[in-house]
Amino acid sequence: MYLKPKTLDEAVLFLSAQGGWILAGGTDFYPALGERLPQGRVVDITAVGEIRGISIEAEWIRIGGLTTWSEVIRTPLPRCFDALKAAAREVGSVQIQNRGTVAGNLCNASPAADGVPPLLALDAEVELASAAGRRRLALAEFVVGNRKTQRRADEILAAVLVPRRMENAASAFLKLGARRYLVISISMVAAVLQADGAGCVSEARIAVGSCSAKAQRLVQLERDLVGAALAAGIGRVVKEEHLLPLSPIDDVRATAEYRRDASLTLVRRTLEACVESH
Ligand SMILES: Cc1cc2nc3c(=O)[nH]c(=O)nc-3n(C[C@H](O)[C@H](O)[C@H](O)COP(=O)(O)OP(=O)(O)OC[C@H]3O[C@@H](n4cnc5c(N)ncnc54)[C@H](O)[C@@H]3O)c2cc1C
Repeated sequence: MYLKPKTLDEAVLFLSAQGGWILAGGTDFYPALGERLPQGRVVDITAVGEIRGISIEAEWIRIGGLTTWSEVIRTPLPRCFDALKAAAREVGSVQIQNRGTVAGNLCNASPAADGVPPLLALDAEVELASAAGRRRLALAEFVVGNRKTQRRADEILAAVLVPRRMENAASAFLKLGARRYLVISISMVAAVLQADGAGCVSEARIAVGSCSAKAQRLVQLERDLVGAALAAGIGRVVKEEHLLPLSPIDDVRATAEYRRDASLTLVRRTLEACVESH
């Protein structure tokens, strides 16, 4: 059965009454089915207008659950969003960016999801709506592993919320793949660096994707960057031991050893890219 609710209330009622598979842009949903047809009820949420688009609130920037990657790219946003915008431009192709949503990327929870590292580096939270009400979780808690999240079957990801506290921070995102375009990453890095009045790092957030079951923040590196000059050469702060939270695997795209080695270079380059954008 195919259902197309027009409001969020209607959508969560459908899900709570009889369950169903949520369909947004369909760019992960359909490839996951392969040659099969969807089984059971499909709840197509694309007509739920109230969760589309990006709005600026007093303390948060709200990315509605139906916001596409193309909308992220064309919406004017503070500079700490440069990494997320760069990631948006790397998601598949323009056609995929026009259909695919930020929320779909997070709910699919691939280790290679381009949206996760920049949103982790922004300390984003997710808002989940169900017939029972709404709850909020840090993105770092929401994604629990390879294609595993804390979303309950009756919940819709209604919004991604980014705190405005560091909105003037420099940010950058770099993705390494086997070719330049339309590629699943071997490694990717997002960084957000806040400077103090003297031009030194006062707060740093670094996240690496595709090198563990879920993207990881490099907490020790974040600490060691505090006090460093936000200037060319900042990449030299990064040491091999900073990458210990990663647990890369061998797969068709790269070996674990290559991933670790490439990530070291990528983290350094992402920090330098933050300096260039500063
Ligand atoms: C050719 C191609 C290239 C791609 N390239 C990339 C790439 O480079 N990088 C990358 O990260 N991804 C890539 N993708 C994957 C995909 O485009 C993205 O993950 C996209 O953001 C998914 O969004 P969607 O709206 O299409 O999700 P859908 O396919 O509609 O849904 C994905 C999953 O999330 C669930 N879901 C969707 N929205 C919600 C919601 N609001 N609340 C609760 N559950 C929800 C669905 O039930 C489903 O399980 C590619 C896909 C294709 C086909």
